[in-house]
Amino acid sequence: MIGGDAAGMSAASQARRLKGPDELEIVAFERGHFSSFSACGIPYWVGGDVATRDELIARTPQEHRARGIDLRMRTEVMEIDVARGRVRARHVDSGAEAWTSYDRLVIATGARPIRPDLPGADAPGVHGVQTLDDGQELLDTLSATRGRRAVVVGAGYIGVEMAEAMINRGYEVTVVNRGSEPMATLDPDMGRLVHRAMEGLGITMVNDAEVTKILTGEDGRVRAVGTQDAEYPADVVVLGIGVRPETDLARAAGLPVGDHGGLLTDLAMRVRGHENIWAGGDCVEVLDLVSGRERHIALGTHANKHGQVIGTNVGGGYATFPGVVGTAVSKVCNLEIARTGLREKDARRAGLRYETVTIESTSRAGYYPNAAPMTVKMLAERRTGRLLGVQIVGREGAAKRVDIAAVALTAGMTVEEMTSLDLGYAPPFSPVWDPILVAARKATAAVRRNAG
Ligand SMILES: Cc1cc2nc3c(=O)[nH]c(=O)nc-3n(C[C@H](O)[C@H](O)[C@H](O)COP(=O)(O)OP(=O)(O)OC[C@H]3O[C@@H](n4cnc5c(N)ncnc54)[C@H](O)[C@@H]3O)c2cc1C
Repeated sequence: MIGGDAAGMSAASQARRLKGPDELEIVAFERGHFSSFSACGIPYWVGGDVATRDELIARTPQEHRARGIDLRMRTEVMEIDVARGRVRARHVDSGAEAWTSYDRLVIATGARPIRPDLPGADAPGVHGVQTLDDGQELLDTLSATRGRRAVVVGAGYIGVEMAEAMINRGYEVTVVNRGSEPMATLDPDMGRLVHRAMEGLGITMVNDAEVTKILTGEDGRVRAVGTQDAEYPADVVVLGIGVRPETDLARAAGLPVGDHGGLLTDLAMRVRGHENIWAGGDCVEVLDLVSGRERHIALGTHANKHGQVIGTNVGGGYATFPGVVGTAVSKVCNLEIARTGLREKDARRAGLRYETVTIESTSRAGYYPNAAPMTVKMLAERRTGRLLGVQIVGREGAAKRVDIAAVALTAGMTVEEMTSLDLGYAPPFSPVWDPILVAARKATAAVRRNAG
């Protein structure tokens, strides 16, 4: 196994469940300091909701070893020799190198955060948040910094979660975003709702702004983030501008990589054209079941499932990963954000004609205490009425409603079929017509109206 986090160690653990150490020797290489950790929890650790780093570690190297997995920490695989079935690994601290042979290889190298190629990008006070080491370094900076101004670069889900973390730490937060609205995984009209809500939380949102420089002071530390036409003073900068699949090693070994830079696999997560090599997690492309296209989506939920499938197959069983519908949830303070399926531009790109509806509803019965507003946008295919996508922005209780739509997408339901879904109702949980049902009814009417 190359990579000791979500995909790699899920695969190792599942293979070990199926085959004991006498039948299958498992060696895993991890170049970092931690195994099986939750990067997803970093914003909440930095923000103070999670007290300690160790709470984010699902399984330590010692625990893996006790389960019969030979996990070699601080050991980086430098080369895959496909022809001879072996990998060359180097101990990061000592520099010692050795070849290890394999019968079956699993590539779970994850993704690499994008760093702006600008002077100052590596200055003290500029932080990424990909690993627990990154989180610790950011926390160390926060406790050593007297200033209280934070600039977050990027307004995807990591950017907005880090904006919340910095607000919780008492910082004045500016988010500098290249796109026209935050959360480019939503349509701009829904992103605008996020924008307004973030401003309501006291966050300064700067859209349509490309970072052109990161300015440092005489002490060498970051002092501001510059765009084409402005400078934003910063005592600390957090980068959240996306990731790329970590596939240099695999490319060098001649393994197939797709248009988005991720490894290409079959449904059993086997690297295409290679019987004894599997890959999963952030380093692969996945099939989008709604558009029928390959995509790169870096999410822990997929990485764990890939690992489970790979481990089953490596352990001699049989499992497949059919693909994804593109479900994701996040939040910024008390604003919940969710999406599944296609945005309008995805539908157009896939050549689909569609209807869209947007409805306003509430999280609970209107008369019940703390009923909070929620906006649901739904896309349905013209004529057939097949559900294509749902986006939700609202307060508590909004985000996880998207799972209903994720199931409906997976089942290939029409919006009309969705209107009779037997969803639970009581005033503390939803209005008598759940917001998803209200949107499905309105989408059904739109499809019927334009059926001719
Ligand atoms: C701040 C943050 C918040 C997130 N929040 C969410 C969330 O809320 N929900 C969600 O679903 N996902 C979330 N994610 C994404 C999620 O963490 C990743 O999708 C997931 O960790 C991917 O798992 P992986 O095993 O594919 O890759 P990784 O977790 O990146 O693990 C790959 C491992 O391989 C090691 N490695 C790479 N190359 C080599 C080599 N040559 N030799 C040895 N070791 C190597 C790396 O050191 C790394 O530990 C978040 C990510 C971040 C950074």
